[in-house]
Amino acid sequence: MGICVKEFDFIDRYLKQEIYGAETILGVGDDAAIVRVPIGFDLHISADMLVEEHHFFGDDPPETLGARILAVNLSDMAAMGATPRWALLCAALPDLDEAWLAPFCHSFFALAKQHQVTLIGGDTTKSEVRTFNVTLMGLAPKDLALKRSNAKVGDDIWVSGRLGLAAFALACIWQNEQEVPAAVFLACEQVRTAPVARVALGEKLLTIAHAAQDVSDGLVQDLLHILKASNVAATLWADCVPTHEFIATLPNKYQYSLAGGDDYELIFTAPKSQRDAIEKLSQAQALPLSLIGVINMGSGLDIIDAAGQPVSLPSFGFDHFA
Ligand code: ADP
Ligand code: MG
Repeated sequence: MGICVKEFDFIDRYLKQEIYGAETILGVGDDAAIVRVPIGFDLHISADMLVEEHHFFGDDPPETLGARILAVNLSDMAAMGATPRWALLCAALPDLDEAWLAPFCHSFFALAKQHQVTLIGGDTTKSEVRTFNVTLMGLAPKDLALKRSNAKVGDDIWVSGRLGLAAFALACIWQNEQEVPAAVFLACEQVRTAPVARVALGEKLLTIAHAAQDVSDGLVQDLLHILKASNVAATLWADCVPTHEFIATLPNKYQYSLAGGDDYELIFTAPKSQRDAIEKLSQAQALPLSLIGVINMGSGLDIIDAAGQPVSLPSFGFDHFA
């Protein structure tokens, strides 16, 4: 362990950072922060917690962990179509070791700056197990949001990027996988440790898509949330879901692409009339957007492969208490 700092030195030296935007009235340092929601906007609020040994490994590098803790929350804003603006960071730590905290904070604030998100407060406390909670607030035009309950019969189902990479990296770590080429593991490990939240995509989808959700627990499980909330059914074309080309050769490939979590891509539904707009958006953002299914009347999810045969999965996704 390196040199430890005192709680208030930590707050003063590491957590009082740049304030973005005139709507941030008061940041870190008082009993509460003050923000002003502009007229014509709604405030979107989300929280996501990361606990050592449950969501990250004790030896995951602080250089990526700080950003990851923010990224998983940015992803929730992206899934609503909101623009992230303010963050609260609650941290429970065994010690205030600068050698660990400095790179952690550096990576957190580098990503915050990229998105012009101001850290406006939080709490710091001691605990044996490192635990972080970020509460994130964002803005979207009044009454516009990519709610899970808004999927419509006949909508296309789309997904951004590639799925299953983060879950495959985890499986490699747990199973000490020898057969996997190093470059494949590194590409997947990059997604697990440094996921990219699709914030710019979400903002653009606000006027294109009906419903959206970020894939944090597994595509099928997360899509089922949309179906349930919208009271609709769907057909999912398993072989249209993009994954890493190495994962696509595995006998249990669907377990990663359809049920693997932690990739933080977006699934969304949109009317067929938006196909051109979605293709253009994909090009503009240099981000693959793939058509993977259709919303139907009724309830339940049919998953079929390229030959039209039903696909069965041992699990639909991650459940903390399963
Ligand atoms: P209080 O005793 O009123 O709860 P604290 O001593 O916990 O205040 O915190 C002092 C200031 O530092 C507050 O503005 C609080 O929001 C901020 N702060 C404390 N911990 C963090 C943290 N981990 N991240 C961001 N701000 C923090
Ligand atoms: Mg406090």
